[in-house]
Amino acid sequence: MNSYKEQWLAVLRNKTQCRAYEARVRELDAPIGSFLSFHLDPPPGSNNPPGALSGIPLAVKDNIAVRGRPLTCGSRILENFQCPYTASAVEKLMSAGARIAGKTNLDEFGMGSSNENSALGETVNPWNHNKVPGGSSGGSAAAVAAGFVPLALGSDTGGSVRQPANFCGVYGLKPTYGTVSRYGLTAYASSLEVIGLFSRDIALMEEAFTIMRGFDPRDQSSINPQEPPVGGKKAAVLKVDGGALDGAVSDACKTAAERLGAEGYEFSAVQLPSLKYVVPAYYTIAAAEASANLARYNGMRYGYAPDYAENPRELMKKARHEGFGPEVKLRILLGTYVLRSGFQEQYYGRAQKIRTLIRRELDALFKDYNFILMPVFPTQAFSRGGADMDDYQQRLADVFTSLANLAGNPALAVPTGMAKGLPAGVQLMAPHFAEARLFQAAGELSKHFSPPSPEGSLDIRGLA
Ligand code: GLN
Repeated sequence: MNSYKEQWLAVLRNKTQCRAYEARVRELDAPIGSFLSFHLDPPPGSNNPPGALSGIPLAVKDNIAVRGRPLTCGSRILENFQCPYTASAVEKLMSAGARIAGKTNLDEFGMGSSNENSALGETVNPWNHNKVPGGSSGGSAAAVAAGFVPLALGSDTGGSVRQPANFCGVYGLKPTYGTVSRYGLTAYASSLEVIGLFSRDIALMEEAFTIMRGFDPRDQSSINPQEPPVGGKKAAVLKVDGGALDGAVSDACKTAAERLGAEGYEFSAVQLPSLKYVVPAYYTIAAAEASANLARYNGMRYGYAPDYAENPRELMKKARHEGFGPEVKLRILLGTYVLRSGFQEQYYGRAQKIRTLIRRELDALFKDYNFILMPVFPTQAFSRGGADMDDYQQRLADVFTSLANLAGNPALAVPTGMAKGLPAGVQLMAPHFAEARLFQAAGELSKHFSPPSPEGSLDIRGLA
């Protein structure tokens, strides 16, 4: 049988096929809303050397720069902004032959867990349109789950790749902090975030990651991968308080541990004493950095500006008041609050200390264990409109994902099957630079399970 990648390479070779593909995706995406803009780059010309990803359509979260395309960040403030440059990670994938297909919906500036904070439209979960696709990279996750593209980019500041991947039943990778250049990623919380990948195919994801990573002079925090010592078969499973998880989520963890056990892994249960401080530390740091990063949107040089203002101060006020949505405003306020003079030590300083503590606890565990198995999120995809999970609960539920952002570790959301009509899955977390261990374990799990397709998804083989 052809690999997933080969299925995609076999089609979209000529203009007619590309047009048919575009029309089909537009039709199938109408009820899902994963794309904010969609238009497939032309097939590579004959003088383009065929790269590893030759012709593969790539969806890009709309907070990542692609020249000549919009870069809305899901915000009114950038609604009409056309991007003049391309992110390094995107450039690398394009030089390997990937073709941009479209820009995907997200929670405004990456702030949220449901895609409901986008100012530019709603994305629903392809498995059940009454459920959210997750966030903030919900559009990318939905597009991959629905088979519209084999590969998509997202950004992960506190779980925004892994949580939507988990909700939509696809793989979602958050690489080690710094291994993928952030040049061209719109900054939300710079010390936490990294560009990540979505795919239904673990081999294709690994290939794309290998192309994307590496030092980039345009991002001073980027770094070449350093190989960690080869791991053995010892793995840990995180102990979580009874009742903190939905049944389907704890079942997924159990099943995954059993399946990996059958592949020769030996699991021990471990605890992270500082886990309870993760969410407060994450939101303190994320809000603080957001309040500084988002100061640049002031209606002066680009982005939304009001029709009339008495003076520059008034103009900035109006641009920000009318351009930002409520969640973004809340976080800017929170961020300025925790950073206000005389109180930095009490909030930001403390959060940074917690961050060090967590990093040490994880480093200690990784001396003994190859990777840690844990949930991605305490529940499966929740209902739209906050019916079964309000904003506050959504934030608390970021505990298992934002852990890896605070400590910089790589982590992978792995789909493991369906439960109650929705995807279920687990998260694998590894020491810094040990993405290879994650791919290896996920590859072993994928022998037992490969992601199914929701109704109304695209089967690319039908277009060949
Ligand atoms: N739920 C997290 C937040 O709202 C996700 C952030 C992210 O990874 N972009 O901050």
